[in-house]
Order: sequence, then C-alpha cells, then structure tokens
Amino acid sequence: MSDIKEVSIKKLKGIGEKTSIPLSRLNINSIYDLLNYYPRDYSTYNPIKEVKDAKDGEKIALYLTIFQSASLIKTSKMNIIKAVGFDNTGKVDITFFRQDYLTRVLKKNTMKVFYGKVTVKGTSVKMDAPEIYDYNDYINLTKNLNPIYSLTKSVTNRALIKYVHEALNEFIPLDETLDENILSKTKLISYNDAIKLIHFPKDYSDVRMARNRLAFEEFLEFFREINEKKKELLDKKSDFSIIETADVTRFIEKLPFELTSGQKSAINDITSDLTSGIVMNRLIQGDVGSGKTLVSLIAILTVASNGLSSALMAPTEVLANQHYKTIEDYNEKYNLGLKIALLTGSVSAKNKREIKEKAANGEYNLIIGTHALIEDDVVIKNLALTVTDEMHRFGVNQREKLSDKGNNIHNLIMSATPIPRSLAQALYANLNVSIIPDKPANRLAIKNAVLLKEDRAKAYSVINKELCLGHQAYVICPMALENEDETSLKDVVTYSKELQEIFGNKYNIQYLHGQLSAKDKDKIMNDFKDGNIDILVSTTVIEVGIDVPNATVIMIENAERFGLSQLHQIRGRVGRGDAQSYCMFINCNPTDESIERLDVVYHSNDGFHIANEDLRLRGPGDVLGVRQSGVMLFKIADIYTDSKMLFLAKQIADEEMN
Ligand code: ADP
Ligand code: MG
Repeated sequence: MSDIKEVSIKKLKGIGEKTSIPLSRLNINSIYDLLNYYPRDYSTYNPIKEVKDAKDGEKIALYLTIFQSASLIKTSKMNIIKAVGFDNTGKVDITFFRQDYLTRVLKKNTMKVFYGKVTVKGTSVKMDAPEIYDYNDYINLTKNLNPIYSLTKSVTNRALIKYVHEALNEFIPLDETLDENILSKTKLISYNDAIKLIHFPKDYSDVRMARNRLAFEEFLEFFREINEKKKELLDKKSDFSIIETADVTRFIEKLPFELTSGQKSAINDITSDLTSGIVMNRLIQGDVGSGKTLVSLIAILTVASNGLSSALMAPTEVLANQHYKTIEDYNEKYNLGLKIALLTGSVSAKNKREIKEKAANGEYNLIIGTHALIEDDVVIKNLALTVTDEMHRFGVNQREKLSDKGNNIHNLIMSATPIPRSLAQALYANLNVSIIPDKPANRLAIKNAVLLKEDRAKAYSVINKELCLGHQAYVICPMALENEDETSLKDVVTYSKELQEIFGNKYNIQYLHGQLSAKDKDKIMNDFKDGNIDILVSTTVIEVGIDVPNATVIMIENAERFGLSQLHQIRGRVGRGDAQSYCMFINCNPTDESIERLDVVYHSNDGFHIANEDLRLRGPGDVLGVRQSGVMLFKIADIYTDSKMLFLAKQIADEEMN
C-alpha cells in the first residue's frame, strides 16, 4: 500500500494540473490531504416535490421531463443554455450559464432531477443553474447525510464529493494509524472506517463515531508531543542570571493604579522563575482586559534591566502593532529607556535588514513581531525571554522555534482563553500556570441582553444611541458570504448592506471576514481602531486581543450557533474603556437548550465560570463545527465537544511514558 501522503491528487481521474490549483488553495495536495479535508457540516436533501408545490425562493428538487432539447444562446457576455421541463403538475423554465455541454445532456424527453432555488411569479416557475441528478442518485442522496465542505473559488461541493468518493474507491483500505492495542483498549473504530464515515455518514451517530476516533488521534499526538517536551524542559538550567532590580519596583510604584491581586501574584511567579536559575515555562491565563500586557511588560523590564533582551510574538500584525504602541507608550511615559523594534511582514525590506542587523548586535531590549520573528535569519543577541501572545493561535512548533533562537531561554505565554481547570491541567501539562482571576476594579460590568430576532429593533436602538454618543459598534455574524444552504444565518456582506439602510449614510459601516486578504483585514481593523468606521460587521475572525476602548456595543447574530466560551471571547471586544458597554445576543432559534445556554452568558461575565458551564452543557450530540470553542488549533477536535476523547488520549499518552 502506497503512502497516501506521497500520492498527488492529480492521480485521481478528473484532477489535472489546472483543477489542482484551486485545491491547493485549500491545502489539498495529496490524497491524504483530500481524505482529511473534513466536512464542516452535513445536509440532507429534501424529497422530490411537484411543480405546483414550488414556493418562491425555496430550494427544492423537481423530477422533470425535458420538453425540447436545450438550446444554446450566445450573448456577448456568455453562453446561456435554456430548457423547459415539466411534470404532471406544471412546467419550469430552466436557465444555465456557460455550461454548453448541457445541450448534449438535456435532450428531448430526458428525465432528470433538478435541484436548486425556484423563482415563482404567478404561474411562471423558473430555476437558474440548478444541479442535475439521475433519479436514483438523487434518491440515494435523500437517504444519507451529505457532506458540506468549506469551498473556495472554482471548487464546488459536488466536485469535492466526487473526488473523495474516487479517492476512497481507489485507496481503500487505508492503513491503520493506531496501535492494535490502543484500538482494542479504547474501542474506537478503524482509521479506514472513520475516514469513510466522516465524509459519508448515514446519520449523526456515524459522525460521532468517526469524530471520536479522529479527535482521539489528534489529541494523542498532541499529548505525546507535550510529554516529550516535558521531559526535555523539566528542571533545565538557565544560562542567565537575572536579579530583581529597583527599576521594576519604581515603575510599579509610579503606575496611576494599583495592580490587581491576580497581576501581583502572576508577577511574583514570574520573578521567582526568572531568578531561580531554572528555565521558565509559564502560562499566564487571564480573561480579556485583565491586564496581561502589563504583566508581560514587567517581565520584559526585569530582563532588560539585567542587560538582556526579549522577543514578543503576536499572531497577527494588528496585534503586534497594538503591543508595540502600548509598550512604547509606557516606555515614554515612564522613562523606561527600552529600545524597541517592530518586525512584521509589512516592514520594508530595507528596514527589516537594518532591524535584523541591530538585533544581532544586541541593540534592542525588545523586539515585537509576528511570525517574521521566527525566520531563520533573525538573530537576537542576548535573547533571554520570549513572550508569546494568544498562544493557541500558534502551533507548538512555532513557539518552539522562537525559543530556539537562544539557549535555555525563558518562556512566557499569555492566553486570554479561560478554560476549565481539568482541561487546563491536561493541555498545559508542560507549563506552569498563573491565573489572573480578577479585573481592574474601575471597570464597569458589561450590560447583557438576550433578544429574539423579532426584537432586533431594540438592539438597533441601543446601537444608535451609542453611535450618537460618538462610540463604535460591532455586529457579529456566523457567515462570511451568503449561502443558499443556510438562509437562516446572517452573513456579513448582506447584513452590512441592510444595516447601512437601517442606520443611514451618515455612518460608515464596513465588513470583515476571513476570506479577505491579510492586508485588507489589517486595514479595516486599523480603520476601526482609528475611529474611522462606526459599525464593524464581522465574522469571528475579529481578533481576540484587539483593544478598541471606544467600541461600547456589540450585537451577536445567531448567538445560538456559537460555543459559550466563544461568545464570551467575542463579547470581550467591548467593556474595555471607562464607558458603560452593552452586549446583545440574538437568539434566532429559541429552543429550551439554546435558551439555557444563552442564559449562562447573560447572567455571567466571568470567563472561568462560563468555560465550566460550556463543558457541562455540551452533550454527546454536539458533533458539528458550529460549537467549536476556538481554543487550540486542532483539525477536528474541540476541547469541549470532544473532552471525553481528550482525557482518554491523555491517559493513553501518560501510560506510554511509564
Ligand atoms: P489583556 O491583555 O489582559 O486583555 P490589557 O493588558 O490590554 O489586558 O489591559 C487592558 C487595559 O487595562 C489597559 O488599558 C491597561 O492599561 C489597563 N490596566 C491594566 N492593569 C490595570 C490595573 N491594575 N488597574 C487599572 N487598569 C489596568
Ligand atoms: Mg492582550
């Protein structure tokens, strides 16, 4: 059996040089990549209807006989194919675009199932570019769950389904990837079955079985890696002798506010790590706005006052810029005397070269940057401390690479994602953890509301009031673009147009989603930060660490679709300044369950409490991606939804160590 990681997808029928290009945008290059490109959701196909029952705007299947062979109409823009189909109850005008070959398929008296959106006006029924199926194929579709994949331009869901089918036909049985002994101990299904079922399940219990197996394996690899690292890191001697200095104490005394007790104890932990002679590996966990940046600055200052340097890595340019600004502000205001450089992808080549040269000469106390920091040619003289912000956004290896820039470097990691203790103990087994449980005392608690979609107007009026006060607003949607399969979900593109009509032209409303280029995303974020955008309509790509104190209101559409911890993270975009802030959760599908879940975030602003509830309220039925907590980057596994598998994998990995 050949290794499917080594077999190019071009080996499949129907995939050539040209078709492989858009697939590589989805990181699908090998058969392995294809088979591990999991559906993001599943759909069921509706039973076939009759023309007389077609309702305007609905997506339906009709079984039609072609009246006359389809005709090709050439226009200056594109070729149009027109056909008329009928059943016993009525006729439908069908139009296709640019699919000339259909004139050969849709001959007179051909019978096919047409699946798509219908337009009904009076007695006229129309379908534009429906999907076409043979009767039996369509009936099969109605019996199973059908995978929905995340797509990109020039890759259709149907094409992906076809490729996966072909790959399964050709490469099955897939080699087992787990030890026999682990399989029998855990009673998980084989790799072969899991891959088959994750793509083509009969029902959700198939999905759960497949997901358990795949999530388990991901966790197992993760824990094996962690355990390896733990062995390496334990009691490693540090090469740097660092002492507490008066500079740091003086800085803390000069601050206009008192540190919270959580900040104080985190700083104590860090200082005793740094001065212990043993390498520090510490995670600072604190809710958004708990003041972690300041804590990391104190670590950086301690290192600098010992004549050594630090590197701070953030997951995006926006966050790196923000850290740079914040720390430079402190630097100037309190005369800290730090020499700081910012090294990101958008720094000009010339400046980059200069910064790298100076870094190699030890001219900086602190370099702040993105992934650009871990490039091989970045050498930082006297590097003694790395700080990683929002660590779950980086892979373990990227973090490692940063600390490989020196010998036995101290590592400080910051995370704004509170997770339940039991999970933290497992996931962060190779780190010491300091928790900042409290927030600065002067903060006003965010006022929450849960609204039904019929009551959206109330939310708009709160937003309007805040805009009148010169504040800014966020509106969060679950989708980036309109999707015919998910008409009940708001998407940022359509919704920002609607909101523009509701709020009028005096307000600048922009949208943000993950499919925009990194450059566009950064520009929009920066415009919002600078106050040039009044309402930002965004998917959850909105940065967890972003700090715009003037934004005081956030409205979360389809709140029932998000995980609780994720809702809490999203809400954390507001409540960052002195003004009162508001968060409105729109519950578009008020079931007993969604009401209970949203009640949790309504009543509590405490991330740890919410995380515990998130874990408690997730049932074995939660098999889909919509409830992904966004904590840690796993391909399919979610630490809440798949927590059973997490603990099982941890147990097996630990047994292997002994
Ligand atoms: P985090 O990174 O944990 O989300 P930040 O470090 O960005 O939080 O802090 C949020 C804001 O709170 C910053 O404007 C910071 O200056 C301020 N801040 C930090 N610590 C305190 C404190 N002890 N009292 C009052 N304000 C604080
Ligand atoms: Mg932060």
